[in-house]
Amino acid sequence: MKYDMLMIRYGELTLKGKNRGRFERTVLKHVESVLSSFPAAQTQTEYGRLYIMLNGEDAAKVSAELKKIFGLHSISPVLVCPSELDQIIETSTSFIRQLAPAEGTTFKVTARRVWKRFPHSSHEMNHLVGAPVLQEFPQLKISMKQPEIELRIEIREHGTYIYSEVIHGVGGFPRGSNGKAMLLLSGGIDSPVAGYSGMRRGLEVECVHFFSYPFTSPKAKEKVLELAKVLSGYTGSVKVHLVPFTDVQTSFTTVGQDNLIITLMRRSMLRIATKLAERQGALALLTGDSLGQVASQTLQSMNVIGRATDLPILRPLITMDKNEIVDIAQKIGTYDLSILPYEDCCTLFVPKSPTTNPNLHVVERVEASIPNLEAMLEEAVKQTETVVLRPDSVIEVDREETIDENWF
Ligand code: ATP
Ligand code: MG
Repeated sequence: MKYDMLMIRYGELTLKGKNRGRFERTVLKHVESVLSSFPAAQTQTEYGRLYIMLNGEDAAKVSAELKKIFGLHSISPVLVCPSELDQIIETSTSFIRQLAPAEGTTFKVTARRVWKRFPHSSHEMNHLVGAPVLQEFPQLKISMKQPEIELRIEIREHGTYIYSEVIHGVGGFPRGSNGKAMLLLSGGIDSPVAGYSGMRRGLEVECVHFFSYPFTSPKAKEKVLELAKVLSGYTGSVKVHLVPFTDVQTSFTTVGQDNLIITLMRRSMLRIATKLAERQGALALLTGDSLGQVASQTLQSMNVIGRATDLPILRPLITMDKNEIVDIAQKIGTYDLSILPYEDCCTLFVPKSPTTNPNLHVVERVEASIPNLEAMLEEAVKQTETVVLRPDSVIEVDREETIDENWF
């Protein structure tokens, strides 16, 4: 069907009082960046709503892209006609004709007179439009409750909007409108979902990935970059900080406390991520932890691991079951990449029985016994390379030269 316009409703953000203007501007900017691939389309804003004049662009294609924009609640493709009775009837009839309803399709008209000077009330309009439509399409069956086609007619001074479809958007908060967090991104199923969940809630997400060359292959790193690229599809671009973790990781293999290795590694990851967060202006860390999933995600482990940072650790998946996480991973397009077999740095040196109940004092004593641990963490930050990924490109960026030594 050929539509004139898309009507877009904001979700929850309409509730947010004084932030609303800022949020709407942020969404609009995101919408406009998506519309750059549909040059004829034009935006038009109105209190609490956004309209996109299609000017010949395909409604289905534009909607498919807009559906991914955070902060958009729903989208309706609309036919527009002048606010005159005969035109409204004619446009409504041709709308239904294009839908080609099958025998027995349930139907109702819901008219709304926004422009009070229009001569017929909303109630009258339901009949004035319904009768001729039913006459032309006898296969339709009137139903007031959840009809298959609800023909909505919104009569405004400058034109009448006719539509029936309501396409659900992803909702959430506009891109980057709720501050920045560093996502600890592994190659697994969970952390990309955690990243998406944070982004959907309006977080600007930068990724931190730890790799242990030569123990982990370039393929593993590539896989993580591919995952980040998928995430960038939801925001336009994503930064990934690649942290060489070999020295830190191997230092833990020499202390004779194999069952603590994962705990020690996780704490160091958090410390490095915290330093990067400070440098990048992020206020929280974001992880794919899910309660009880593995030894490092028992409450006791998370307690001891979490103490390595002063930043809040956001764990959007904490109470989710694995199958719920997998469902989201499939929906957002990360699952197939995540299940590729390349090894993660954490699967190296993994002891037979990692502790599920680490003792904080023991952990702290072990860390204090490693002579250069803090220096190694700082070195890892210095050697970190940053790349910026976009849905269609990989851009290599040199190691950040702007590191201010005073940060550490
Ligand atoms: P996933 O790897 O999909 O997140 P998982 O069940 O494999 O899930 P773990 O390996 O226990 O989880 O890791 C827990 C969390 O620690 C991850 O969700 C991720 O946030 C972080 N993490 C683990 N390994 C790395 C890594 N190599 N680089 C960055 N973050 C990591
Ligand atoms: Mg993992």
